[in-house]
Amino acid sequence: MAIEFSKRVERTPAYPMSGAQALPEDIVLMASNEVPDAPLPQVLRAIEGVIGNANRYPDPTNTKLRRALSDRFDVPAARIAIGAGSCDLLMAAGDVLLEPGAEVVYAWPAFSVYPYLEAATGATGIRVPLNDAHEHDLDAMLKEITVATRLVIVCNPNNPTSTALPLDEITRFVEAVPRHVCILLDEAYCEFNTLDDPDASVDLLKRHPNLVLLRTFSKVYGLCGLRVGYALCGDPRFVEAVDRIRQPFFCSIPAQAAAIEALKHQDVIAERVERTVVARVEMESALNDLGLEPAASQANFCWFALPEDGPEEADVVKGLAERGVLIRGGTGQGRAGYLRVTYGTPRDNDRFIAALADVLGR
Ligand SMILES: *Cc1c(COP(=O)(O)O)cnc(C)c1O
Repeated sequence: MAIEFSKRVERTPAYPMSGAQALPEDIVLMASNEVPDAPLPQVLRAIEGVIGNANRYPDPTNTKLRRALSDRFDVPAARIAIGAGSCDLLMAAGDVLLEPGAEVVYAWPAFSVYPYLEAATGATGIRVPLNDAHEHDLDAMLKEITVATRLVIVCNPNNPTSTALPLDEITRFVEAVPRHVCILLDEAYCEFNTLDDPDASVDLLKRHPNLVLLRTFSKVYGLCGLRVGYALCGDPRFVEAVDRIRQPFFCSIPAQAAAIEALKHQDVIAERVERTVVARVEMESALNDLGLEPAASQANFCWFALPEDGPEEADVVKGLAERGVLIRGGTGQGRAGYLRVTYGTPRDNDRFIAALADVLGR
């Protein structure tokens, strides 16, 4: 006799790993939308300053970090939730809002973690196809909202397609969604978006208690290895709910300290965004030279279709890996025949372009 597992295990897909863990040193990692920068020396010192307390549990209320975020965004600390990465808050949102019979609406392709909410809760997922420009079709999403809908997720900028919608379209959508439905705006890449001031969406919280802005220290802040994210919420009851259903000590002592310190260095964030915008322009033109048409990126990565007369996606991914470049194939991201490529350093980007030209025989 073997142990019996719950049905939840069966219906939960395995997360597709990038394969980076098993590879040699001289490899460029462009598969996980990380920034190439090591943590700032000040952040490392902040971690060193607290790691000696590791025999104690972390502050379960994350008070200092929530206060720092409250000062930064002018949102009361009672309306700020912390998570072990924003995926922790995403899954917690599923747990507090969804159950069998309930529905969650999201665009597709979007973040590969969203389908886990259905698997974890037994709710029904309604996937609304992106438009031809690889953007959310908000009108089509609105039409899918019913009395059964508890949660609608909008990923802006969208992973894996890199596109963003302007804030006025998001605003119109938020105004049209019924008040009983929680709107989760996943803004993991918002700092890279140059269409609007990344902080402008925060104002929507004042008028929309059903809105949650999901943000993270994993992307532009470059701390994904520490696992810390946050949610700015329209209603403090959302914070209370996600805190109630999780284990109490989800955010570690070094993660809290690093996040507080990282927030103080907005000049570095601005530099990273500038560098990303340069990479965006350079990568687009290099891809165009290869006859490829990336979607209009507002993120730190690009998304494009492979040529129909060229090698298969799996062979391109393999060929790039053999040349020391790790990227994501579209199949695991919801659309076969595409690639998602994170911008690296200028040298990484050149190496990717050279490897791709070689693999495509161009
Ligand atoms: C990377 C990412 C996240 C953040 O994940 P963390 O758990 O904070 O590391 C959230 N949403 C999207 C769309 C992402 O791409």
